[in-house]
Amino acid sequence: MHGLVEAAHVDHLHPDSGIAIATSADGAELTRRIFGEKVAWVPWRRPGFQLGLDIAEIKERNPNAIGVILGGHGITAWGDTSEECRANSLEIIGTAEAYIAEHGAAEPFGPVLDGYEPLPADERRERAAALFPLIRGLASADRPQVGHFTDGEAVLDFVSRAEHPRLAALGTSCPDHFLRTKVAPMVLDLPPSAPLDEVKARLKELHAQYRAEYAAYYDRHATPDSPAMRGADPAIVLVPGVGMFSFGANKQTARVAGEFYVNAINVMRGAEALSSYAPIDEAEKFRIEYWELEEAKLRRMPKPKPLATRVALVTGGGSGIGAATAHRLAAEGGASSSPTSTSPPPRRSPPNWARPRCGRRTSRSRSRRTSRPRTRSRRPSGTPCWRSAAWTWSSTTPGCRSPSRCWTRPSPTGTCSTT
Ligand SMILES: [Zn+2]
Repeated sequence: MHGLVEAAHVDHLHPDSGIAIATSADGAELTRRIFGEKVAWVPWRRPGFQLGLDIAEIKERNPNAIGVILGGHGITAWGDTSEECRANSLEIIGTAEAYIAEHGAAEPFGPVLDGYEPLPADERRERAAALFPLIRGLASADRPQVGHFTDGEAVLDFVSRAEHPRLAALGTSCPDHFLRTKVAPMVLDLPPSAPLDEVKARLKELHAQYRAEYAAYYDRHATPDSPAMRGADPAIVLVPGVGMFSFGANKQTARVAGEFYVNAINVMRGAEALSSYAPIDEAEKFRIEYWELEEAKLRRMPKPKPLATRVALVTGGGSGIGAATAHRLAAEGGASSSPTSTSPPPRRSPPNWARPRCGRRTSRSRSRRTSRPRTRSRRPSGTPCWRSAAWTWSSTTPGCRSPSRCWTRPSPTGTCSTT
């Protein structure tokens, strides 16, 4: 797209207000009404070469345009310089935001449902903690997943409103969103006052239903060339009164999936405020989700680390073995939680038994020393010591038989005494 549009700078973005116009049932008419000749409408087309040609042609036909709204998707803006392109992008976003704020309906998601108001914060967290192991287990039926929890205002408001079941079922629209969130979330259909056991039983039923529906969606659209189904578990689980659980192969993707669903909520709110939300149809979503290029991108991703998706609780992680364990778990891809560890791992300070005094080596200390990288004795004199309150590596201890391999106490100034 960027290479085909005749402009020095082209920006393609997915702002909530822009996608709200792009996913409105009358998006073309709204674009004309909001922007006049300044922004043109491009009907939905899958991202790729042809979409680039479409935008290029529309730009030719609309010489006064600074950008386009891409139906069902996002926006593209252009300019002669990077600054101009950025300013044009911001103008499209800001104008759409202002129009929604000024002309949008007051309650686009409908009234709050009786009994679906958010629980108080402490009860919300308590219920989330009680449900999280079960929901993570359900979301990990095909492969282990890491979870993230969000109880932000946008989420709690959405799941408390009358229209949320209908809108959630329509799914997200922007390709960059549903590749992370899956085409639709799983939504608990019980109020927050429902007993915990009843909620758990219902979640299991809904999960079985979700998997069956996802498999049916795959079967409806798959062709003999389609990649195999990548898993039928939900990436987003909405629990009224409590919040949203999002899942991914690691903590970062789980969090980003949740953030994209918050974007999708904002998009639905804007579209419903002005018109009605009309995402791209299911067949198109499938063609993107199981696009060969998308599959190739997944194949190129690095292999997961050995402890990816595993979660461990490390106690005594503030220092020593506990901290080293927490950092090792993280390095191997695990998600570790340590109640006390926030400091970086001790990189150089050996335990007491491994700190020989000069000239008095033991076989144990010798083996420790030989395993240390030699670079530890290369610190330039006067640089801030890596741990001024601890032992430092020195080559200047008087009388040391092996000056380049000697532990000594830190200098009074807290700088490394190595020459
Ligand atoms: Zn895009």
